[in-house]
Amino acid sequence: MRVTVLGYQSPYPGPGGATPGYWVETNEGKLLLDCGSGVLSRLGVYLPLYDLDALLLSHYHHDHVADVGVLQYGLMVHQLFGQRPADKPLPVYAPAFPEQQAKSLTYREATRFFPVDERSKLSIGDVHVSFLRTDHGDGDPCYAVRLEANGKTLVYGADSGPGTQWRGFVDQADLFICEGTYLDQNRPAKPNGHLSVRQAAELAQAHDCRSLLITHLFHGYEESNVLSQAEAFVAGPVHVARIGWQIEL
Ligand SMILES: [Zn+2]
Ligand SMILES: [Zn+2]
Repeated sequence: MRVTVLGYQSPYPGPGGATPGYWVETNEGKLLLDCGSGVLSRLGVYLPLYDLDALLLSHYHHDHVADVGVLQYGLMVHQLFGQRPADKPLPVYAPAFPEQQAKSLTYREATRFFPVDERSKLSIGDVHVSFLRTDHGDGDPCYAVRLEANGKTLVYGADSGPGTQWRGFVDQADLFICEGTYLDQNRPAKPNGHLSVRQAAELAQAHDCRSLLITHLFHGYEESNVLSQAEAFVAGPVHVARIGWQIEL
C-alpha cells in the first residue's frame, strides 16, 4: 500500500499548497481520501483522475471537499472524451449528513454517492475499509477511515477532537495519519474538535502505532516546531506532512 500526501494544510492552502487529500494505491485499488482545495492539481502529477476507483470523504468541511465540484466536471469531460466509460460513475463514500451536501455527491454519470457510517464495511479492490465517528464538534458526522490491504493497516484520523474513542480502531496501525492542528502556543483553552501536535503524538503512542504522520497543519508552521512537539511518540518514526510525501507500507 502506497500513500501519497496531495494536500495537508488547513484551514486554507498556503502559496502553491493544498488542503487535505491523500492518494492511496494498492495492487487492486486507487483511492482518494478527502478532496480539499488544490488536491486535483496534485493528483494529476501521479495519475489521470479518470483512473480513480473511489473517493472517500471524511466530512463536509470546505478544507476537505473544496475540489469535489471540479472533480465531477473533470470526470464528466473524461467520459465525453471516451477516457472513462460513460456508465462508470466514480463511487463517493461519505457521511449522509448534512443531507444537502450528501445529495450533491451524485452528479450525472460522473459520480455516485454511497452513505457510510460506523457500521459500514467496504471492499474496494483488495482494500478493506471501516469507519469511526470522531469528536469533531458541530453535530454533523465526521469519520476516520481504516484501510487494510496485504496485511498492512493505514488509519486516516480525519478531523478529531480529544473525545474520539480510538480503542480498537487505531491500535498498532502501520501508519496513523493524525491531525495536529495546533502548536502549544495557539491551542485553544477549550477543546474545539481538533488536536494539537502534542496530543496527536500522545495518542499514537498510547495506541502503539508503528508510525505517525502529523497533518492538518497551518501552512506557516515550521517543520522543526512540529517535530519538537511530537516528542511523546517514540514507538516509531514521526513524519510531518508535506505535499508529495510518500510512503510504502
Ligand atoms: Zn473539519
Ligand atoms: Zn479540516
